[in-house]
Amino acid sequence: MELDQRLRDEHRRATLFWIPSHCNIDGNELADDLAKKGTLEPNVTLSHAPSITKIKSSNRRAARRSWTEHWRQSTTTTHFAPRSRDPDPSIVDVHSSLSPQESRWLTWFRSGNLPLRYMLAKSDAAISPRCRCGKDDETRDHFLFHCDQWDLARRKHIEPLYAGMPWAANLDTVLGDQQGRTALFNFIGETRRFS
Ligand SMILES: [Zn+2]
Repeated sequence: MELDQRLRDEHRRATLFWIPSHCNIDGNELADDLAKKGTLEPNVTLSHAPSITKIKSSNRRAARRSWTEHWRQSTTTTHFAPRSRDPDPSIVDVHSSLSPQESRWLTWFRSGNLPLRYMLAKSDAAISPRCRCGKDDETRDHFLFHCDQWDLARRKHIEPLYAGMPWAANLDTVLGDQQGRTALFNFIGETRRFS
């Protein structure tokens, strides 16, 4: 509620998004913990949330019950475990609709086993893991989200995927659906990093 007041004082607008829980998004794990603690508080004060205080107390009790239930269930890793464990038949469909090059790129980026310097250096001592930009090792994350060399291509293809949601700048966003994969392929193509 303190945050609510602060946002109001600074005339900022806050937008709420649903994001999957327990997938190592910074801040989300913390939010989970706080939310769980919140469901255990006997008296929740909602003084700065007029729209919520209008809700009848019976609704509030029911909502709290359902949240408590939700958080209890979400302590398992059921959200993502099935996708990484079972060979999802739809992945075969995904690949069959791709060109050989796109299929190769997708496999590289899914597995993390790809010809960027950080990986190449592991098997060849003559190769430095450092990126040509000189700022960091050339990892998959560095290439996709951070390297200055690809700022233009990133702004065009990758950043629209998580516009306004900086915490969603991760692999799940890029590899998670067809829109993300198309953006990834356009990005890689434009960098010419692998050609
Ligand atoms: Zn770089």
